[in-house]
Amino acid sequence: MRLGLILADQLSENLASLRVLDPKTDRLVMAEVSEEASYVAHHKQKIAFLFSAMRHFAKELQAQGWQLDYLQYGSDSTKDSLLKVVQDQCQQHDISEVVLTQCGEYRLQNAFDHQWSETLGIPVTSYNDDRFVCSNEEFKQWASNKKQLRMEFFYREMRRKTNLLMAGDQPEGGAWNYDADNRKAWKGDPPLPDPLNFQHDAIDDDVLTMVSQEFANHPGHLEQFSWGTTRQQAVAALEHFIRFRLNNYGDYQDAMVFGQPTMFHSLISPYLNAGLLDPREVCDAAVEAYYAGHAPLNAVEGFVRQIIGWREFVRGIYWLNMPEYAERNSLGNDRDLPDFYWSGDTKMRCMSDCFKSTFDHAYAHHIQRLMVTGNFALLAGITPQQVGEWYLAVYADAYEWVEMPNTHGMVMHADGGYLASKPYAASGNYINKMSNYCKECHYKVKHAVESNSCPFNALYWHFVNRHGERFAKNPRMSMVYRTFNRMTDEKKQALIARGDYLLEHINEL
Ligand code: FAD
Ligand code: SF4
Repeated sequence: MRLGLILADQLSENLASLRVLDPKTDRLVMAEVSEEASYVAHHKQKIAFLFSAMRHFAKELQAQGWQLDYLQYGSDSTKDSLLKVVQDQCQQHDISEVVLTQCGEYRLQNAFDHQWSETLGIPVTSYNDDRFVCSNEEFKQWASNKKQLRMEFFYREMRRKTNLLMAGDQPEGGAWNYDADNRKAWKGDPPLPDPLNFQHDAIDDDVLTMVSQEFANHPGHLEQFSWGTTRQQAVAALEHFIRFRLNNYGDYQDAMVFGQPTMFHSLISPYLNAGLLDPREVCDAAVEAYYAGHAPLNAVEGFVRQIIGWREFVRGIYWLNMPEYAERNSLGNDRDLPDFYWSGDTKMRCMSDCFKSTFDHAYAHHIQRLMVTGNFALLAGITPQQVGEWYLAVYADAYEWVEMPNTHGMVMHADGGYLASKPYAASGNYINKMSNYCKECHYKVKHAVESNSCPFNALYWHFVNRHGERFAKNPRMSMVYRTFNRMTDEKKQALIARGDYLLEHINEL
């Protein structure tokens, strides 16, 4: 008899290992173990979402006739790791082989591949996770003959491969990418759609109670938990996005509004990453809306690019470069993550709004993660590993394969420009242009050196100055350095002095 181990982000009926196993002769096991729930301080909502979705999924598999043992959190303290759970199964049943689908984290996959078989004394077989458009092998081949890896070229390959938004061998509408149309600030119109909140069922309630007791010290709040926890609810979330949000998704993709964490975003990343939605089905739904005349091309192309472009690209980068990718720190950062990343307590209005959304919902949209909390960490020179740990902990959609390239590569430039050709560094001016945060902020966005000046401003020039050797020759940064070099020495010194002051008093900002 074979034993299939189903992990928390493998909640798909079409999972590779489930296709190999036979419900008549094989067994399954799923477990909520403390080793996985606590190796970083995951947000309470992230744990609740995953445990509840796992319990729902396990019930569905049992109803389909699978013999499945499910270990609830805390029910047996001797089985606090996945290995111990599987060892116990092997003792109870006559297991000849353990069958898995490749997992989303190098640490665990490495253990499956190199330690488990020896410890268990039986074969441990991992099948490729084919819920992605591009396999790791295909990505490796694509990357093999290239000096620089650029998402845009990878994305075009994926468009051709999937035939999404293609008119013959040409891109729909004549261009591959309509990103330039997707940078509008939101000025109050069109009205923002209400988010779709799901009612809790008994399983959700049990899990929420347990998480509030067992994970009281973890970050985040449970009061506003409204994620769906079943495949049915995930599909409803997708339909809600296509119907009420996709139309304006492109135009306002980069816009930020105080107290409005979701804007026109899809809120589907937790479902996609846990396996409750499939990337192809979400792209098909968006493309169908375009051909039916319900959504414009810039919105649909922008959405499809995030899924078959960025999402697949960062996964390829992760598996191609682990484990050393995790150690990279090309800018030599050594500052600790400020306390306010965990407390949310800062006078910077943009940051505190992003923290509020993060702690209330385990969610912040992409531009908040990239251009506010990420940008600050980049400008302040925070250690990438601490930044990575934070992003992995606080978002409901966070798994290392997707979080790490976004954090190390896109935000922190820790990989030396492997993923993004220039750092996404920006002053308060960018945040002011794309949001309404600055008007009522304690700090003044138009000021750079005064004691009440926006911290992003001086920190931006501090960053530009301290990394001049690395970036001054980068053609995409040349304008910035020309502007800096045109400043008087006095102005430069004042900016650097203010930057130094801010860094010295970083926990008071
Ligand atoms: P939408 O804006 O509606 O986008 C649609 C989908 O596109 C998302 O659901 C997601 O699956 C995909 N997508 C968009 N951008 C990216 C991207 N850069 N990388 C991968 N997929 C993308 N996304 C995660 O799923 N998990 C993470 O742990 C994660 N960590 C991030 C850390 C940082 C520092 C940054 C800058 C981004 C991170 N992202 C991560 C990417 C992105 O911010 C989220 O996918 C997105 O905000 C999820 O919200 P949504 O579903 O409403 O997205
Ligand atoms: Fe953020 Fe600066 Fe604007 Fe305040 S003034 S909201 S700190 S960008």
